[in-house]
Parts: sequence; structure tokens; C-alpha cells
Amino acid sequence: MSHFPAFFDLKDKPVIVVGASPVALERVRLALSAGATVRVFAEDLSAEGRLLVATPGVAWLPGPPSAEDFAQAALAFVASGDCDRDRAAAEAARAAGVPVNVMDQPDLSDFIMPAVIKRGDVLIGISTGGAAPALARLVRERIERVLPARLADLVRFAGSLRQRIKALFPRPEARRAIMERLVDGPCGDAVLAGRPAEAHHHLITLLNSEAEPRPGAGTVQLVGAGPGEPDLLTLRALQILQRADIVFHDELVGPDILDYARREAERVNVGKQKGKPSASQDEINAALLAAAREGKRVVRLKGGDPFIFGRGGEEAEYLESHDIPVIAVPGITAALGCAAAVGIPLTHRDHASSVTFVTGHGRDGTPLADWKGLAREDRTIVVYMGVSAAGEVSARLISEGLAPSTPVAIVSRGTRRDQRLALGTLAELPSLARPHAGEGPALIIIGKVAALADQSLADPRLEEAA
Ligand code: SAH
Repeated sequence: MSHFPAFFDLKDKPVIVVGASPVALERVRLALSAGATVRVFAEDLSAEGRLLVATPGVAWLPGPPSAEDFAQAALAFVASGDCDRDRAAAEAARAAGVPVNVMDQPDLSDFIMPAVIKRGDVLIGISTGGAAPALARLVRERIERVLPARLADLVRFAGSLRQRIKALFPRPEARRAIMERLVDGPCGDAVLAGRPAEAHHHLITLLNSEAEPRPGAGTVQLVGAGPGEPDLLTLRALQILQRADIVFHDELVGPDILDYARREAERVNVGKQKGKPSASQDEINAALLAAAREGKRVVRLKGGDPFIFGRGGEEAEYLESHDIPVIAVPGITAALGCAAAVGIPLTHRDHASSVTFVTGHGRDGTPLADWKGLAREDRTIVVYMGVSAAGEVSARLISEGLAPSTPVAIVSRGTRRDQRLALGTLAELPSLARPHAGEGPALIIIGKVAALADQSLADPRLEEAA
């Protein structure tokens, strides 16, 4: 280890900054945000610098700092940009016994500046020992991506309870166990999901539970996995997958996405699999309930969004009626993913003022939609699970008055590497759909906007192919 990691308490302590370069001004801001009083020694100031030294807690002094100035300081930053001047200031600081950092000069510095991630009171410093600051920034970006956005809320929440928990659980081990269950359980999950009322409810349950860790009832997270490509997962979905104990997924969720789940997490396919009967909804509900009751972190991972034709609503109702908390995490639904992947804007000022998502399958397998209400030329219709009903969809819309020449697009396996796009008209829809049946998930987009699809992605037209 080339450096010792530590965090300084600079509250109300004097800090010296030598120079007024952009880096120097950045140091001023950083020291201010840590509560220090800052003295800036520089001959000239930029307009930005002038504004900064006008803020409370900052003083500007022209000319170099004296030995006495340094002697009073807790830390010194040197960043004038002039090599000789920087070296002289660093020597003076060191002579006065003040730890000094010199911009871009790790050899002249007593300490170096890490790349920093800040979420409320959570502070993460990343160092490459001064060798490769660019790499430190890259690491920071990677870490930023996996940290929950509301981490600071959780820190505040846990911090506000420390005294109370100390009083309730005098034994340090019991206290630690409760704190762990607080931040790493349904209570913490609710805080991270921005649901304070729910968090308080879980908190009361937790504080009334026994001090020793005991598997309590888990939460089920109903997570949308997006349309197929892993990089269309949301950051929240990714974080939840990385903490899962068990993941129940359907057939729309491919192995690429499951790779993102915690390595030790159990994976259960409850979708249709070749040669096996698929699990019934009752069986899925029962399995989710049993896993949650074992106190596991249960993830129910669904293609697209869990509440768009995914039966997520039914699962949530069932679990909640059995007192299992459910948290829904939205995903990019197939309509949005497919439309973007083929360049179709679902609404457009010139072509469509509304968009409707309908299913091609009702409970009894017949198309459900109110076709009369849908047949309007300024509307986009997106049909999920519609390929096998394409003939009926086309006939119904035409008989309700939609022009047979209305553009349509069929997107199969949208967003994935093996995506396919077929373009044609409403009259052609049945023949257009035929090659897509049984070829993975496919979506039908009907309306003038379908003509805006990127033609270069489309299959050759039927007559040309024939
Ligand atoms: N909850 C999912 C939809 C589940 S219903 C969502 O929000 O996307 C299953 C139907 O979704 C499929 O029959 C198909 O019509 C559509 N679908 C899902 N993923 C798709 C994809 N990658 N490409 C095209 N259609 C898709």
C-alpha cells in the first residue's frame, strides 16, 4: 500500500490554498464542504475565483503565505500551476509541519487526493497511489453505477436510530444483528425504494422482534428485466439482482440477464420450457410465498415491465393478501424497447397523438380489445402476444374503419442481437405475421408511425422474397 487511507475532520479548522488555478478553486470548494475555513493565497483571481472568495469562510490574501500562516493551518493545498512557486510553497508548508498536497506532484505531496464518491455521509475515496488518476475515475464510475441512489437516505435513517437501538439492545452483538437486519432487509429495501411509511412499519416489527437474528418473512421484489438486452436493465434491477437469494424468472428472461444475479442466488425457471409443462400461476404464487416465508430475498424477474401484461398485479395481490411485502421495480416494456430498436416513435406530432398497449390474448385466448375505440388513424396500437391472432386483429380493425393501407411493423426478439423487423400494411398483417409465429416474442405496431421505422433493419418485402 503506497498511502494510508484516512478521512480528516476539518470542521472549523484553517486550510491554506496556494494559487487560483481551476484545481486550486476545486480544493477550496472541497475544504469548504468539509466545514473548513479557507485562506486563498494568490496574486490574481479569475471571475469565478472572485465569486468563491466572497463566500463566507473564505479569505483572499495576495502574495505567498508566510511561515506563520502555514504554522496555523491544518492542511495545505498547493496548486498555482507554476512549478517553482509550487515547490517553494510545498517546502514552506513542510517546514511548518503542515501536511501538504501539491497538484500533479505526488513526489512533493504528503497526501494525495482520491477520486471521491459521495452519497450523503457515505464517502468513498479511490486511489491508485497517484499513478493513474484516470483509472481511479474509471473505478469511481463503475462503483457509482452499482450504488443505490437513496443510499444517503438509508445512512440517515440508520443513523437516526442508533441511540434508540443502543437503549433497546444493550448487548453489542444483539445491537449489531439488529442494525444489520435494519439496513439489509425489508426495512432498508423500503428506504432505498423511497417508501418511508413502509420502512417505519418494518422498523416497528424489527424492534419488537427478538434480538437474535431469526429468519423473518422476506420481501418479494417484482422486477422488470426489460426487453432482452442486459444493458436495458435498470440500475435498480441490477442492484436487487446482486442481493437476491432466489430468482424466479420466466422464459422471456435470458441467461445473459441471469448472469447479473448474485452468483450464489438460486435460479428457478417458472416459464415455459421445451418438453416440460410450464408452472401454473397457482404453483408460482405458492413457490414465491414459501421462499418469502423462509426469510429469503426473493426476486420475481419478468420480461419487460412487471405490470404490463406480466401478471405482476395478480402475484402482488396474492402475496400481499398473505402479508408478504411486495416492491415493484419497473422495467422497459417490450413496446418501448422494440420501438426504439427499430426507430419508431410511438407518438409523433404529425402522426399519432396517443398510443395504446393491447394484448392479442384474453383470458379465454380471444382478442380482448375494444377494436371500435381503437380504430382511429391518429393512434398507435401496440399488440402484445398478437402474432397468432394477427388475422383477427387485422380483420377487426379494418371492419371498424381503419384503412387497410395503415402501416404496420412486427418486431421479433426486439433489442436482442437476433432481432427481426417486418414492415407492411394492415391488410398484409396476417401474411406478414406468419413467419414470426413460434420464433420468440414478437410485437405488432399499427399506425402511421410504423412507416417511420428504419427500413434498413427490415426483412425483404414478402413479394420480393417470394
Ligand atoms: N411484461 C412484458 C410483456 C409480457 S407479455 C413487457 O412489459 O414487455 C409477452 C409478450 O411481450 C410477447 O408475446 C411479446 O408480444 C412481447 N415481448 C416481450 N419481449 C419482447 C421482445 N424482446 N420483442 C418483441 N416482443 C416482446
